[in-house]
Amino acid sequence: MAEYEAVIGLECHAELLTDSKIFCSSEAHFGAEPNSHVCPVCLGLPGALPVLNQRVVELAIRAGLATNCTVAPISKFDRKNYFYPDLPKGYQISQFNEPIAAGGYVEITVGDVTRQIPLTRIHIEEDAGKLVHAGADRLAGSTYSLVDLNRAGVPLIEVVSEPEMHTAEEARAYLTELRNIFLYAGVCDGKMEEGSMRCDANVSIRPKGATTLGTRAEIKNLNSFRSLQRAIDYEIERQIRLVESGERIVQETRLWDEQRGVTITMRSKEEAHDYRYFPEPDLVPIEITAAWLEEVRRSLPELPEAKRRRYIDTLGLTVYEAAVLVDNVDLMQFFEATLAIGADAKLAANWMMGDVAAYLNEHSQTLAETKLTPQALHELVDLVQAGTINRNTGKKVLAEVLTTGKSPRTLVDSLGVTQISDLGAIATIIDQVITDNPKQVEEFLSGKDKVIGFLVGQVMKASQGRAKPDTVNALMKDRLAALPRT
Ligand SMILES: [Zn+2]
Repeated sequence: MAEYEAVIGLECHAELLTDSKIFCSSEAHFGAEPNSHVCPVCLGLPGALPVLNQRVVELAIRAGLATNCTVAPISKFDRKNYFYPDLPKGYQISQFNEPIAAGGYVEITVGDVTRQIPLTRIHIEEDAGKLVHAGADRLAGSTYSLVDLNRAGVPLIEVVSEPEMHTAEEARAYLTELRNIFLYAGVCDGKMEEGSMRCDANVSIRPKGATTLGTRAEIKNLNSFRSLQRAIDYEIERQIRLVESGERIVQETRLWDEQRGVTITMRSKEEAHDYRYFPEPDLVPIEITAAWLEEVRRSLPELPEAKRRRYIDTLGLTVYEAAVLVDNVDLMQFFEATLAIGADAKLAANWMMGDVAAYLNEHSQTLAETKLTPQALHELVDLVQAGTINRNTGKKVLAEVLTTGKSPRTLVDSLGVTQISDLGAIATIIDQVITDNPKQVEEFLSGKDKVIGFLVGQVMKASQGRAKPDTVNALMKDRLAALPRT
């Protein structure tokens, strides 16, 4: 393996978050009755003419700016000609040589290394319909196929990266970050399981240190982060095996078979000229004024890269904490809502990354499925910070809040778990523990310092965890020091 280097580029399709389709007023939403969101335009009926949805252009500009691209003041549409039953017009309206955006980058971090993966381009196109294979979930083994054109004409952007990734982990990190950027920017809902974000990978290998590119295979059907990573790992190994055994790699399109965990030949790779691209005669070029561009730029929220930096530099979170919170939009929004009402950032992050995350893992729940609110987390953080309850009690209160939604303050009052801060009360318990454990006290006085841990533990137990360990420790030391030495 060490003699070869993999070269990976990704082509990602993202469905834009519009209400209607790109060239007609048919609804663009997922999950409707088959063929219920169609009209003469997206059915490709003769004489029907496309009219560009302005919101599509705005979202494509957002995507371009959010990925540090240069947005073209003028871009145009082209026809990409091919035949397939899910494409009633016989061509797809896309952008060929004048795409809307180019030249940006996506920043990724794998291990300790942060890199910028350059983008070749972003272009706008329409989605095709969907074939539903009867009797099987894939073409092989099914007796006939049905055509659903609800998706035909749903707006997409295609984001093409330069082939500058070298491992499946980098590809996964890139897709994760791209998805997050689009979620933050409101470009795409990122639902990979519904196909609103899909990815193809171009994979080749070359001897380590070489600068020319090897023959590549394009892998399709990567519908999850897991399949992306597995398919790339498989493909790298397959190509190395071929080269090692003296065979040639052919340029082709391969399909990832998730069940079998292999890539299989689909078709020999087509070239751009096979599609006979030509300018779309039914649409005028897209013109984007400087003023419009500026307006969109101003409307962008804080994006993942900037947010991570702020969490680390301004809020004092660790790199890891910032990454986990920013990579999960639900956690991030919850965290920011908790800060907005005045909670301490570091403490709130600690609770979320620790006990809250552990609970979610254990119960396979999302934050939204629990009864925890930013208000409740804020209260809990404050109760522990003020010393009203100790951290252990805090954990118990949290578990209760997550399932019942009760206010931590109310729970603390009703459970009688307030931390004992009355020194007199603690001193009474300490005296009792000293009286009850003469053997251990003896040992301590004869020099076994460690026994103090046991004695403190007894006090904590007697107080049902409501005494503050630091206080008990200090008082216990004072008390023991005052005893006559043997
Ligand atoms: Zn339509």
